Amino acid sequence: MTTSAPTLAFIGAGNMASSIFGGLVSNGWPADKIIAAEPAREKLDEAEQKFGIRTTTDNAEAISEADFVVIAVKPQIMQQVLKPLAPALQERKPVLISVAAGISEQSLSEWSGGNLPIVRCMPNTPALMQQGASGLYANAHVSEEQKKLTTDIMNAVGISLWVEREEDIDNVIALSGSGPAYFFLMMEAMIDAGEKMGVPRETASQLVAQTALGAAMMVKETGVDAGELKRRVMSPKGTTEQAIFTFEDGGLRELVEKAMANCHKRAQEMT
Ligand code: NAP
Repeated sequence: MTTSAPTLAFIGAGNMASSIFGGLVSNGWPADKIIAAEPAREKLDEAEQKFGIRTTTDNAEAISEADFVVIAVKPQIMQQVLKPLAPALQERKPVLISVAAGISEQSLSEWSGGNLPIVRCMPNTPALMQQGASGLYANAHVSEEQKKLTTDIMNAVGISLWVEREEDIDNVIALSGSGPAYFFLMMEAMIDAGEKMGVPRETASQLVAQTALGAAMMVKETGVDAGELKRRVMSPKGTTEQAIFTFEDGGLRELVEKAMANCHKRAQEMT
């Protein structure tokens, strides 16, 4: 990224915001083109020292020079944070990127004064390790160039993919937003079972974590379908086959479908 990079303002400098601006700075985004704002000086001082970005305790001041505003406060205070910023946002007209779960584009638009380019972004917790997967939805005011730059911003913490319909953000929540917890559950169950078999918990934990990482890398790097990769591990009458038949007979597939449908339903109720 060159010094012609757009200026980014972060409203809220907590976990998600600091992962994004930290990722951007380490990817070469000029630190002087990033400004973070929030009421408490402590986190701002830490961000300044660690990443060299600019900071302020005045949200409106951060917006006054921003081309993109990433709003990264908790969903429950979004309205009270956004409404007083409407005049600054309307004057500057930056792209507003919200990473808050469950806040609709319509609410964001209403609270920010209307007619702004708005992106709803649904990241997940591995973003904190720069390994996130984000779903992005843009309203009609976002230009192609702004979409490209939004992709650059969110790619600082992993990969990001656009969806055409806002309701697909709820599908993204069911897939990748809540998805890390599904894998944590599977890993926890495997570690517990390994321990019951007599393997020390720490050893089981390391073996399971590396297995999950390796399996994910095989899906990502080879481009081979996950089902096919599974079949390749299952030699006829072998050990893996016994385990997979047990999962299938126990209805794991139907259970995953039901869990994701319930997650999706809850996301719709919350928006
Ligand atoms: P967080 O660590 O609590 O960060 C929120 C920050 O906003 C805090 O530093 C908070 O400061 C600050 N803040 C409070 N009032 C403010 C105000 N009036 N103006 C500006 N900043 C203010 O939370 P987070 O985990 O980063 O989550 C932020 C957003 O990301 C949420 O909407 C969440 O839904 C979304 N998200 C997070 C994750 C994740 O993995 N963490 C995943 C998906 C989506 P104080 O601490 O001093 O109150």
